[in-house]
Amino acid sequence: MLDYVGLEDDLTEEERMIRDTARRFVDENVRPTIGDHFEAGTFPTELIPEMGELGFYAPNLEGYGSPNVSETAYGLLMQELEAGDSGLRSMASVQGALVMYPIHAFGSEDQKEEWLPDLGTGQAVGCFGLTEPEHGSNPSRMETYAERDGDEYVLNGSKTWITNSPIADVAVVWARDRSAAGDADDDGPVRGFLVETDRDGVTTNEITEKLSLRASITGEIGLQNVRVPESSVLPGVDGMKGPLSCLTQARYGIAWGAVGAARDCFETAREYATDREQFGGPIARFQLQQEKLAEMATEITTSQLLAHRLAELKERSDLRPQHVSMAKRNNVRMAREQSRVAREMLGGNGITTDYSPMRHLANLETVYTYEGTHDIHTLILGQDLTGIAAFE
Ligand SMILES: Cc1cc2nc3c(=O)[nH]c(=O)nc-3n(C[C@H](O)[C@H](O)[C@H](O)COP(=O)(O)OP(=O)(O)OC[C@H]3O[C@@H](n4cnc5c(N)ncnc54)[C@H](O)[C@@H]3O)c2cc1C
Repeated sequence: MLDYVGLEDDLTEEERMIRDTARRFVDENVRPTIGDHFEAGTFPTELIPEMGELGFYAPNLEGYGSPNVSETAYGLLMQELEAGDSGLRSMASVQGALVMYPIHAFGSEDQKEEWLPDLGTGQAVGCFGLTEPEHGSNPSRMETYAERDGDEYVLNGSKTWITNSPIADVAVVWARDRSAAGDADDDGPVRGFLVETDRDGVTTNEITEKLSLRASITGEIGLQNVRVPESSVLPGVDGMKGPLSCLTQARYGIAWGAVGAARDCFETAREYATDREQFGGPIARFQLQQEKLAEMATEITTSQLLAHRLAELKERSDLRPQHVSMAKRNNVRMAREQSRVAREMLGGNGITTDYSPMRHLANLETVYTYEGTHDIHTLILGQDLTGIAAFE
């Protein structure tokens, strides 16, 4: 497995164990069927509790059943899952970084006790509702709102492109709290609501037309006069820093995960090039093919280094969201470009689901777009580097 500068040597026993567990899980449970799932547009839902049992959901959190593993261990886990499929890593990212993290960071004691153990073991599935049909890159303009009525809130609005919404038990819904609005121009602060999906007025239609991230369930969340008790509000945060801090956690995992997808493409291409014979010998003997492998290995290695550095910064609480933007932007672009090169090296076989590169390539179109598009991360970096915001 590609580890050109020996990063393995610096891993702890626990980190190796977690990585090896995830790698074995992917080899045994995911690789044999993931191509079929991708073709069928299904997710292997039977693996959800198994992934929970193995500690794949937010193991970097502390308490409520989470073992508080190192940020490197968490990153390696994301890397191995995405080497299997971006849909698999998305499952773990959403459940862990986008649902368990906000409950852990901003939830009441009752909310933590009610949800974290079940989400951690995969007995319950969560989803994260931020994006709306008219507000993707700029979620701060969201129209979903909550209004207080006695000791309840009434929610109205719609969310779209929500990973796992059709199979979720609970949705973290971000909405404007109109009852806390200051004046007539103010829509109120953004707040997080824990909404059980079986409440009256909640719909979660599946989006089935995807050509990317097909082995992942994506849907909408419709909210029509949905009543939730006051105790459903995440009490510890208001404003856009709530959802944005969750996204920083998930993007950290993506920066690692994308390297896994690229590594899987590289290994597939390397093996194929040494096996496949044309013009009287393996295609790996051609300089043109070697150049591709050399470039791929170099790009993957530099992205790995960035991911490892992020882990060090996160571990000592020096990680800034802009660091994560740089890594998400760079590593996903790298994986997207290198998966294409790997696909090319496999010739006609490369366009089938018998090999992973084209599936990764298709998936990475989503990864390039969600959790802040490549463009939006460019603007975040641009603002950090110049002090000038260029979003509007
Ligand atoms: C499979 C999948 C799963 C997803 N899962 C979730 C989920 O679980 N929860 C959730 O809340 N969301 C989820 N998303 C939504 C995702 O985060 C959004 O698609 C993303 O934020 C982009 O929003 P948009 O699609 O509305 O594109 P738009 O914001 O409309 O952008 C369209 C294009 O315009 C560009 N653009 C926008 N603004 C600017 C600007 N200021 N300057 C330059 N260019 C700009 C963008 O980069 C992009 O190329 C998911 C998306 C997909 C595809």
